[in-house]
Amino acid sequence: MADREPLSMPEADPAPVRARHVICEPRARAALLRDLAERPRIEACGLVLGRCEGGAWVAEDTVPLRNAANRSDYFEFAPEDLVRHDLEHGDRIIGAYHSHPGGPNRPSTIDVGNMRALTESPWIWLIASPRGATPLGVPPGGSWRAAGIAAFRVEGGQLVEFPVDVAPETPAERPPEPPADAPPA
Ligand SMILES: [Zn+2]
Repeated sequence: MADREPLSMPEADPAPVRARHVICEPRARAALLRDLAERPRIEACGLVLGRCEGGAWVAEDTVPLRNAANRSDYFEFAPEDLVRHDLEHGDRIIGAYHSHPGGPNRPSTIDVGNMRALTESPWIWLIASPRGATPLGVPPGGSWRAAGIAAFRVEGGQLVEFPVDVAPETPAERPPEPPADAPPA
């Protein structure tokens, strides 16, 4: 086909490409905070339910799963829980979350290994921490002040972080302040 004009290459796509990000809807935020508050001393973990839309992972809800490891520095889904929820929620599962009760919301080496093992899936990985850049809010009981959440995937062998938009807390959702003499969390 040497006698043909080469196909002209299109200019760079003029449509603005919205950076991929995570939208954490109020129900997902509330469910996540509730789980963090209920399991403050071990890694809380579970599934993120929602939809993928316009380059965003829209987290509509979260489902807590047992941490079979029951540890503060490690989580492991019980396989039977994972199968049950997969049957129940199917393609609404868009990712997984877990907490780092004692550290920042950065993925550990094990976390990156887990992400790497599922690099073919569209899953987003959310990590929540009492410390972090994106405020998630204050869970009931108030022990996770300014909990932060971050989102990651491994793509092309590289760890990529995605911005997280968290729905603002409404006054009705705000838990009461803990008593002044409450022991530190
Ligand atoms: Zn982790």
